[in-house]
Amino acid sequence: MSGSLAVSVAPGSPATAAVIAADVAAGRRSAAAVLESHFAAIDANEGEVHAFNLVLRDRARAAADAVDAAVAAGESVGLLAGVPFALKDNMCTRGIETTCSSKILEGWKPPYDATVFTRLAAAGAVLVGKCNLDEFAMGSSTENSAFGPTRNPHDLSKVPGGSSGGSAAAVAAGFAAVSLGSDTGGSIRQPASLCGLVGVKPTYGLVSRYGLIAFASSLDQIGPFAHTLEDAALVLEAIGGHDRLDSTSIPTPAPSLVQAVRDGATSGIAGLRVGIVDELTGTGISPDVLARVEVAAARLTEAGATVGRVSVPAAIYGLAAYYLIAPAECSSNLARYDGVRYGLRRTGEGGGNVADMMALTRAEGFGPEVKRRIMLGTYALSAGYHDAYYGQAQKVRTLIIRDFKRAYEQFDVLLTPTSPTTAFAFGDKTADPMTMYLNDVCTIPSNLSGDPAISVPCGVGDNGLPVGVQLLGPALSEGVLFRAAAVIEKGNH
Ligand code: GLN
Repeated sequence: MSGSLAVSVAPGSPATAAVIAADVAAGRRSAAAVLESHFAAIDANEGEVHAFNLVLRDRARAAADAVDAAVAAGESVGLLAGVPFALKDNMCTRGIETTCSSKILEGWKPPYDATVFTRLAAAGAVLVGKCNLDEFAMGSSTENSAFGPTRNPHDLSKVPGGSSGGSAAAVAAGFAAVSLGSDTGGSIRQPASLCGLVGVKPTYGLVSRYGLIAFASSLDQIGPFAHTLEDAALVLEAIGGHDRLDSTSIPTPAPSLVQAVRDGATSGIAGLRVGIVDELTGTGISPDVLARVEVAAARLTEAGATVGRVSVPAAIYGLAAYYLIAPAECSSNLARYDGVRYGLRRTGEGGGNVADMMALTRAEGFGPEVKRRIMLGTYALSAGYHDAYYGQAQKVRTLIIRDFKRAYEQFDVLLTPTSPTTAFAFGDKTADPMTMYLNDVCTIPSNLSGDPAISVPCGVGDNGLPVGVQLLGPALSEGVLFRAAAVIEKGNH
């Protein structure tokens, strides 16, 4: 299948969350009408794109009507009034099926809401549906979903990236104005790059993970997909800030990011020191992607930054460390799917004993990539191997944190590609798991360090498909990142 449906949306366009919210709050457009226009896009194209596991039409209509009633009554409405949004289907919604695109959770309805959902709903946003993902967020192409792949709206013969491929495709195809994904090793930034969107992995602990189904708890973060930085900033302001329901939540309020975007676009970034990371701009990165990094560097220079090069030596070991730490944590987190507490249960002929039931349930419920990770992680943690694998990986993680700290003594932000290539064809990287894992070489280091990172669109590659570039900064530097990213975004229009 080929063809493209992508809508290109610039800041200030009526399709952005910022303009929708302003129009709805002022009574210029109804939330109901905004919602129906998104349903029309879904009706026209979701059959081909498959961004969603579930579209929640009745609920969404009721939520939009409630926003319109509040506007009519002159009540104050939130900063995202009437903005249609979508959630990756690993975020809990009370009474609504939440599957992680895995057969093992089929039919499971969480008894509570994720904090990010509660906060977006409180800001007046309207949940349109739950988005497809690589099973349990393990993958880089959304081909690992138990419910079939999602297609890239820019080119239906290509993957949207992953694991949050459905969340990215939903926004790129105009099914929702903004969406949320989770990023453990790049799963927001890489699909954002491949689908021509802004994607943000916030500082570890800035956004509550209460109600996010855990993959690797020391790495997982929730963040937004959006057409523009201003929209991403609005969403992050709404979902960020302390949550007592998440013990890893940082006790700080959400940062002011919308203002940072405006400042970057209007006043530039005089004096900002930007370092291009040597280790992440070398072999393995496609020349057309590297060319866009150069363009981004030129835009930053033009806006007043000084751009140099910097070495982060341990970054090259990030991938190896990640594929021990993430599987180790997932093998522990996914032990809870035992056929007793959640979703699927399979018993043998005549019932069998509990161990048989668990083995049958897990054999049938998990797909091949999830099983591979559980086995890798169990091995890396096993007595006798723990020190050689998991222990070593943790030491590498410490070196990565140290090397980034050194880089930030000389530079305020770092610049790299987001993904080594533009969107690739279905099946291109499924035969060899290592080829797929290499997609995340530029994104993984900041998950290991816990620092924030943004992917911002910066033109297209040789095949005409979107390229994103990545900005990295130290913990809680989101304001600076958004300001610098605004300079790159401005150059697109
Ligand atoms: N692609 C990486 C993996 O497969 C990252 C996934 C993620 O960030 N959730 O683990």
